[in-house]
Amino acid sequence: MVQRIVILTGAGISAESGLGTFRDAGGLWAQYDLAEVATPVGFARDPGLVHNFYIARREIAAGASPNAAHTALADLAGRSDGAVTLVTQNIDDLHERGGSKDVIHMHGELMRALCQFCGARWDAPERMEPSDLCPTCSRPGTRPDVVWFGEIPYHMERIAEAIAKADLFVSIGTSGEVYPAAGFVEEARAFGARTLEINLEPSRIPGLFDRVIAGPATRTVPAWVAELSR
Ligand code: NAD
Repeated sequence: MVQRIVILTGAGISAESGLGTFRDAGGLWAQYDLAEVATPVGFARDPGLVHNFYIARREIAAGASPNAAHTALADLAGRSDGAVTLVTQNIDDLHERGGSKDVIHMHGELMRALCQFCGARWDAPERMEPSDLCPTCSRPGTRPDVVWFGEIPYHMERIAEAIAKADLFVSIGTSGEVYPAAGFVEEARAFGARTLEINLEPSRIPGLFDRVIAGPATRTVPAWVAELSR
């Protein structure tokens, strides 16, 4: 029987591409207050500041390249005949540029824009401003199509269905601090899946994962994918 695998990735998989994680000292996240740039209240208070934060993130992401971990996951999914579901908390597009198709972006996408009035979505221009008009309803309510703290992540039903059917759940480069993604491992276990964490260092409660592979993603992820192919 084909092994059904659900893979959840976090900021750690993009760290070696030069995109900072939440916890990187001196990184973009350290320079801004999360409550100001990653919440609906912060956006309502100062949309210009929020747009500037995402303009900076878009520039950094556009200048980064996918790494060996992104491409290894694309190779794995490419030969799995639909048995691999790739869910990411990342808003960057490095999985897609690394060759992955049908990536589930549960926290939205940095390179997409959303109208807060009519819900239209389109490719984000490099610079977004509070006065930008929605191309569909022409009202000035454009925002980055990312899920902020206090908002409901995207595609939860589809993710829950994949987890319920999974034989193996793999968490890569995520600290397990942000819910609901942090709870996926328990859900997977409850449905009988085996669980694997691949992270720079084990992130959480000992015993939560059946197996832990520690080390940088560019080394550990290609090695794990090669192991699956043996
Ligand atoms: P996090 O910053 O909380 O944790 C990152 C994890 O990656 C840590 O456990 C760390 O040990 C690990 N890590 C760091 N370098 C690594 C490497 N080279 N190889 C393997 N693992 C490595 O990130 P998270 O758990 O994804 O937090 C969730 C939130 O962070 C999400 O909401 C996400 O949108 C946001 N975020 C996204 C990006 C991005 O899109 N690239 C960047 C920063 C934060």
